[in-house]
Amino acid sequence: MEIVRIDVYRVDIPMLHQYTMSGGRTWNRLDSTVVKVVTRSGFVGWGESCPWGPNYLPGFALGVRAGLEELAPSLIGAKANEIDIVNELMDQNLAGHGYVKHAVDMACWDVWGKSVQLPLSVLLGGTRNVRLAVVASVPSGSAKTMVSTVEKFRSEHGYAVFSCKLSGDPNNDFPAIEALMERCRPGEKYIFDANRGYTLADALRCANILSGYDVVFEQPVKSYEEFAALRHRTTVPLMIDEIFSGMETMWRVIGDKSCEMINLKIAKVGGLSKARLIRDICQEHGLVLSIQCCGGSEITRAAITHLAASTRSAYVHSIWDCSENNGVKVVREAAGIADGFLEHTSGFGLGVEPDPRVLGEVVASYC
Ligand SMILES: [Mg+2]
Repeated sequence: MEIVRIDVYRVDIPMLHQYTMSGGRTWNRLDSTVVKVVTRSGFVGWGESCPWGPNYLPGFALGVRAGLEELAPSLIGAKANEIDIVNELMDQNLAGHGYVKHAVDMACWDVWGKSVQLPLSVLLGGTRNVRLAVVASVPSGSAKTMVSTVEKFRSEHGYAVFSCKLSGDPNNDFPAIEALMERCRPGEKYIFDANRGYTLADALRCANILSGYDVVFEQPVKSYEEFAALRHRTTVPLMIDEIFSGMETMWRVIGDKSCEMINLKIAKVGGLSKARLIRDICQEHGLVLSIQCCGGSEITRAAITHLAASTRSAYVHSIWDCSENNGVKVVREAAGIADGFLEHTSGFGLGVEPDPRVLGEVVASYC
């Protein structure tokens, strides 16, 4: 399983619809980096890192490719299936930048799965959940627009879990919440996600409204300190997202009891290996997870489904299909969402085969 070559591809992914979030942030396309790890024994592993633009989380597409240039030479000769050692090597050679390491880590898991002819979900603990409830990501907008977006997701794709993005402007958001809740159907789950857009005072006002409903409030404020302060002033279940950067935040959350749910984005915590460890500890501490990534194609989506499929059912709130709004398919034959659910990807390893026509030319190769 000795790594003999790492190829890097750049995939430009136009979005089907412009995506809008608090603070006036908008996105129309994603710049994804796909990694192919080639081993001496002939096994090939695929990985991907796709930041959601340069202004959502620390990390950007050019940073992925620059980080790979820094890291890749040290990985040639390492054994892809000795993944903890690969991660140690990456940490020795580059401090931080987990979103870069995430692509290599994913490719190594893929190699390991293929080499032992098992899907990743088995290697990650066992396949518990084959059908995974997908959360629909509803961009912020007026009450009328958000209601019609939810209706479209509900009627066209069968979604029953909605993550409604709040704009950060209470004058817009509070009527939108009321309008959405008036039309909520039995069995549906709602998350209201402010993406750090509120002041503590406005977050508390919003929590007062949300506490009248059976919903979750996600990442309302910017800092951990504000987030923890909010926890002690409202009864609404809180989900942490952008400020959850990995193991360190996890221990703070557990120690402070500052929330009940974690939006676990694989890239943000440095890859599947680290996400699995966090997943396991969170389960022991009763923290429920929405398993996601920052963005990406069906390659990243496969990693999400394997991690979620191997998580105890009660601890998987939902998953996010990061490719739902992509205007290009990297894995052509990948199945889509049916009745609001995704089936976890079968096949060995990640179970995906990217289309070479979409990958295009190799932009960098290390051997
Ligand atoms: Mg979020």
